[in-house]
Order: sequence, then C-alpha cells, then structure tokens
Amino acid sequence: MDIQYVDTYELTRAGHEIRGQAPIDQFERLIEDLPDQTDTMVSWTIKGEMDSFGQRFLHVHVVAAPLLECQRCLKPLEWAVDSQNRLQVVNSEAALNVDDGTDADPDDAIERILGSQRLDVLALVEDEIILSLPYVPKHDVCPSLPEPLEEEPESDAVRPSPFAVLDQLKKN
Ligand SMILES: [Zn+2]
Repeated sequence: MDIQYVDTYELTRAGHEIRGQAPIDQFERLIEDLPDQTDTMVSWTIKGEMDSFGQRFLHVHVVAAPLLECQRCLKPLEWAVDSQNRLQVVNSEAALNVDDGTDADPDDAIERILGSQRLDVLALVEDEIILSLPYVPKHDVCPSLPEPLEEEPESDAVRPSPFAVLDQLKKN
C-alpha cells in the first residue's frame, strides 16, 4: 500500500484512518539543520472526519524523536515529539486564509490545509514535527558543560563591604 499520498476527500468522507512510519532520515527538510540523527522512526496516524455541516478535518498524530542541538552545551538532545493536531481541509487557496471571525488568540485558530486527491503525507507529517520543535532547545540538565561557568563576583557588587557598613555606623 502506498503510504506516501492520500486522497483527503476520500479519507474525510469515509472517516478512515491511516497509519504509517518511516525512518527519520527520510525527512530531509526536518533534519537538514539538525545534528546527525540516530535511526529512529517517525510514526503517524491521520484520521479523516466530516462533520454534520460538511466541514472536513484531519486529525494528525505524529510521534518522533529527532535529535536537536542543545543551545546551552551544544550536545545532541533527543526531543520527544508527540503532537496531535486537527487541520481543516478546505477546497480552495482562497479558503485557506479566510478570517473566520474569531480574532481571539491566533494560537486557537484552526490550521487549514488545501484538500487534494494526492496529499503528500510525509510532507504533512514533516510540517507537524517542524512546528512542534522548540525555538531554543535545551537540556533540562545538561550532561556536562564544556567549562564550569565562571562564578559571578556578585557578592562584592551587591553587598556593601563590612567596612562601608562600619563607616556608615560611625557617621551616624
Ligand atoms: Zn545541554
């Protein structure tokens, strides 16, 4: 079975679900700026839905474990992606950018994709992973820092010296 392309109209009308997986190194756009990947798999589920108004949706669930570069210690950091998203399938380019009148938080606005009889599943999955990556990835606790960070000489700068305190007392 060809997992690369899917007919969004068929999938949403029938309410079908497709599953697939592929090695992470097939996602070239995702990994081009990332460190060398271990050979983890990316897996996904895409379920079609059509509501009673005839609106079409895809429920996309992607699980992946890309290696990112920690921006603190510059060592690889495995980032667990477990992303669920609901996309509205629209029929025209114009409908992609329609303002649906909810000017609430843009994060709440539903994402739209253009319906297709040959939707590129890997590209869709790849977009979902890319969107879920942190802007500045960091270990919670870095395994090792190249150099211990220099102690800030903050005690001297912040606290007045004992002598300054004595001076102050004498003046009073
Ligand atoms: Zn780190």
